[in-house]
Amino acid sequence: MSVYTCPHCGEKTFTPIRKAMAGNMKSKGKPCPKCGMLCVNGKGATIFDAIYCLVAFIFVIYVYLNGTKNEWWYYHEWPIVFGLVMSMLIVPRIVHAFFFKLTESIRIDAYK
Ligand SMILES: [Zn+2]
Repeated sequence: MSVYTCPHCGEKTFTPIRKAMAGNMKSKGKPCPKCGMLCVNGKGATIFDAIYCLVAFIFVIYVYLNGTKNEWWYYHEWPIVFGLVMSMLIVPRIVHAFFFKLTESIRIDAYK
């Protein structure tokens, strides 16, 4: 089974871009072009996001604590923190585009 297979109708309807936009199990997801049902990236992707955010957050704290150490840190602290925060938004989407299976959206408001 391909990672681009819709869990509702079993057709390979998703593209890497559409899959990247579907978010994880906490998101509302994206509708399948064929059956219109909402799909999100599954458990693996959700766990990856949680771990990635935790690791990036630890790095932010590490950088913050080292920020006053010397001149190099003084000038690089904020660009590094900014980069880490941006990566929290971008990296999961890139990973979702190519890895982890899709699953049905479990959000109740997705079925209104
Ligand atoms: Zn479908």
